[in-house]
Amino acid sequence: MNEIDYNSLWLPYTQMQTANKPLKAAKTLGSRIILEDGKELVDGIASWWTACHGYNHPYIIQKAQKQLEIMPHIMFGGIVHQPALELSKRLCNILPGDLNKVFFSDSGSVSVEVALKIAVQFWINHNKKQKNKILSFFGGYHGDTFATMAICDPIEGMHSLFKNVITKQPVLPLPVPAHSKADFEKFLEKNHNNLAAIIIEPLVQGAGGMIFHTPETLQYLNKQCKRYDLLFILDEIFTGFGRTGSFFACDQADIIPDIITLSKALTGGTMALAATVTNDLIYNAFLSTQYEMALMHGPTFMGNPLGCACANASLDVFEQYSWRSNVEQIQFQLEKELAPCRNLPLVKNVRVLGAIGVVELYKLNDLEQLKQEFIKANVWIRPFRTIIYLTPAFTISPKDLSLLTHTIYNVLKHWQ
Ligand SMILES: *Cc1c(COP(=O)(O)O)cnc(C)c1O
Repeated sequence: MNEIDYNSLWLPYTQMQTANKPLKAAKTLGSRIILEDGKELVDGIASWWTACHGYNHPYIIQKAQKQLEIMPHIMFGGIVHQPALELSKRLCNILPGDLNKVFFSDSGSVSVEVALKIAVQFWINHNKKQKNKILSFFGGYHGDTFATMAICDPIEGMHSLFKNVITKQPVLPLPVPAHSKADFEKFLEKNHNNLAAIIIEPLVQGAGGMIFHTPETLQYLNKQCKRYDLLFILDEIFTGFGRTGSFFACDQADIIPDIITLSKALTGGTMALAATVTNDLIYNAFLSTQYEMALMHGPTFMGNPLGCACANASLDVFEQYSWRSNVEQIQFQLEKELAPCRNLPLVKNVRVLGAIGVVELYKLNDLEQLKQEFIKANVWIRPFRTIIYLTPAFTISPKDLSLLTHTIYNVLKHWQ
């Protein structure tokens, strides 16, 4: 194999001195990543959970090509276009309840930044400036920018490294089990006058540790938000678009947030696009004859027509196959085939929800070596800390999924 010269690149979440060399992808297809040397990997994580229908979906590509010829991009200030008009309507139609105002952006972190800005300014516009803190939870992940770092899990978000730079925000343990609710409510009782909102990733805290909680927990938090006059922000960037078995995770709790953030699978894994969606109550608080009351935000590439066209195409694709039964099948197969991992001494927990399968270890001494073992077995799985997880495309074949689950079992079985 030719040496890859990647000296001009700085890779994400990578200790560049000690990490394995990156692989060089040549093309993708379905659930496969084809490397330049011809090696084929079965993708177990759908490119960070984006490629929900598999790579290179012909329908999405066709729609993208058409949009590319007409208008790949145009500024969104003072100009709208059909792909964004259509997408905003469609998102409002599939989102629960009264969520009916869409603010587009270009990445998940920015869509969360926008959600935080909307929440804080909502209270400013209501003359309650002191309600400006955002409550979040241990195990959470909401992005890598400075405002979002402050609401991530303190260790994962590297709060201590940046403690003199980031705005300090209250981060609490999720109030489960039930007995911790008293402490949680005591905190709200004392601090609600300084809180703008609570933010959580519903049902599954993803990048912070693939930690599951119940719909009841969400219903409880929703109730506390109402009780203490806090906005409820759901970050569905990971869970949105079918990943947990319902179209949105909040559907399973039958709750309607005040603000929701979407990205990752929004375009079926083809283009960078994100959205922050809210309701009339919040939107109306920004209406005034005064300019200062408006939302002063506008990413250069917001509402990118090519991205919106891909998102519309991805929503079409959801209507073209029975993705729900695919996710059910995947859940069933993950449960069955990951179950034997429970008998391995280094495995702490195996859990499955929708098309998410997690094998959590007690500890892992050599993460880089583990990644190498997976590649050797022709699968693409990216464990982090003590978490090995699968989030395949909903269109993955049972055979490819078996290769993923069996590889995890076999590698762990022989792990020294
Ligand atoms: C990935 C992710 C983000 C950040 O999105 P980026 O596009 O990487 O900025 C935020 N919240 C959740 C829940 C995510 O999974």
